[in-house]
Amino acid sequence: MQEPVIGIDLGTTNSAVATVEGGRARIIPSRAGGRLTPSVVGLDSDGERVVGTPAQRMAEDQPGSVVWATKRFLGRRCTPELVEEARKLVPFPLIPGPTGDVRVNLAGKVLPLTQVAAMVLGELKLDAQAHFGKKVGRCVITVPANFDDNQRSATREAASIAGLEVLRLVNEPTAAALAYGLSTSFQGNALVFDLGGGTFDVSILEVKNGVFEVRATGGDSTLGGEDFDQRIVQWLVAQVEEPLREAVSRDTSSLRRLKVAAEAAKRELTQKEEALISVAALGDYTSANRRLTGVETVLTRSFFETLSEPLSRRCLEVCRTVMQDARMDPRSVDVVLLVGGMTRVPLVQRLVADFFGRAPSTDVNPDEAVALGAAIQADELVRQSGAALLLDVAGQSLGVGVLGGRVKRLIAKNTQVPVVARDIFLPSRAGQAEVRIPIFQGEADFQDDNRKLGEVVLRNLQAGQRAENQIEVTFALSSESILSVRAVDLRTGMAEQVRLEARPSLPAPEAAKLSQEQARYSSSQAWEDARGTEEKLRKLLEKGEKLARLLQRSAEENPSPEATAAVGTVRNLLDTGRAALEAGNSEQCATVTRQLTQVLSGRPA
Ligand code: AMP
Repeated sequence: MQEPVIGIDLGTTNSAVATVEGGRARIIPSRAGGRLTPSVVGLDSDGERVVGTPAQRMAEDQPGSVVWATKRFLGRRCTPELVEEARKLVPFPLIPGPTGDVRVNLAGKVLPLTQVAAMVLGELKLDAQAHFGKKVGRCVITVPANFDDNQRSATREAASIAGLEVLRLVNEPTAAALAYGLSTSFQGNALVFDLGGGTFDVSILEVKNGVFEVRATGGDSTLGGEDFDQRIVQWLVAQVEEPLREAVSRDTSSLRRLKVAAEAAKRELTQKEEALISVAALGDYTSANRRLTGVETVLTRSFFETLSEPLSRRCLEVCRTVMQDARMDPRSVDVVLLVGGMTRVPLVQRLVADFFGRAPSTDVNPDEAVALGAAIQADELVRQSGAALLLDVAGQSLGVGVLGGRVKRLIAKNTQVPVVARDIFLPSRAGQAEVRIPIFQGEADFQDDNRKLGEVVLRNLQAGQRAENQIEVTFALSSESILSVRAVDLRTGMAEQVRLEARPSLPAPEAAKLSQEQARYSSSQAWEDARGTEEKLRKLLEKGEKLARLLQRSAEENPSPEATAAVGTVRNLLDTGRAALEAGNSEQCATVTRQLTQVLSGRPA
């Protein structure tokens, strides 16, 4: 059998892993037993990592040892503005790394965010390995459609630290459309509205005969459920009695508990009209003469909708732009797919239904569709069956900084990828031996309003007249929207090594060290997981024996070919399981464990 491949939805709040088995995409359950893994990472008192649900639990009483929602800052430059933006969203401070990358202080240890993401990916990889009983190395990972070049590169870096080979990065909404399209044989225009914990994406795709062609995409990488929670937190802080309000608004532990309560209330309001919020013992825990207070209040659904109004307006503005970019009328959309946990909020569903003039489809699971689509794409990349062809677009424009602080666009937003674009540039002065051409990503006309990706540095130019030193700059944007740049001095034909200097990736020795650390952790966990599976299999064999005896008795009392076959099936499984345990065959143990669990739970195999 071929080495298994997996699809990973690396989410801001939750992550999921899926695979294609027996021709169908399925979520791989986590070893903790759930279908989703919270994207939360902590370090316990022994400095050991804790990831997922246990880390989420740890956040309750050790908020300083846990980080979450870090995807919002992944691959960005750690500027003072970003640190300030983060201060409003999360209680842990961001710290700049040596290349300007973002790091966090976790229980006294400074970790690059790519390492934090690698820990989550590593956990999903272990879940997949436990599921298959063998090593898993290749995957497709999804990213928000509006992730820029640096954010995509950081995701690849995280995967590499986690020991995963990325077959392709796929945009989250595209993956969701793929999962929907293939499971329902849909043809037409599909609109994906993806509002998760930290990012918002909208894509419109035309689906025809297995070709999934993105017509336009747009979004806001700083808009998600966390912002809705923050609006509730601010409202709660405003209700804290004076003079403690200021202290509470700065206290990590108080803010963390307010945020947990706010999120719980938001979820409750999906079902009910009112939610009671009660948070005790708020105050400044760092102060010696500490006084504590509490907040007890009721949040109604309608007031939550008022609080969220500026955020919902931002969502609709994005929808409007995407429809304009696709030159389509909202009414020409044939199906609206809701993805991301936040699309469960009644307000969001209402806004979408009003805007597109149709109720969203109920055929997609908003938490799982992205991972399922990633698994389908991974399977397709390996098997090359031709069942689905993805044609995606550049989520943001790319250009070169020119005189007057302006940007000359080489690749426009929504251009189909992969794409290659070239242009000729001149040095700004005659006789220059070196030119630096800055590269920007974004939609604004001026450099300052775009994100600088780096600089093309061309050295050893032959001194000459300005017009003689023509430099050809080539942008190649891959099918996963990662940019590579080449610059050629047309006079000499010399192509210089071009570096995207602002890409905040880790220094190579540090990346290598983190990969080794992760590999060590992974192999000791995999060993423990294999022992865990064997233990589980032993218990299942005992239960299976009882089932076999029961089936045997009933076959003797009411003989039939079906009854005899049922006994045979269970007996076969038991024999294979015992042989697998004897031989220490992890893959076989994992397979029989899955099959026996299915048989014993009465579900069809
Ligand atoms: P995701 O990143 O797709 O996992 O989405 C997570 C976001 O969805 C978080 O902000 C959650 O609070 C939010 N969310 C998940 N389920 C619900 C629900 N039933 N009602 C309201 N918000 C939810």
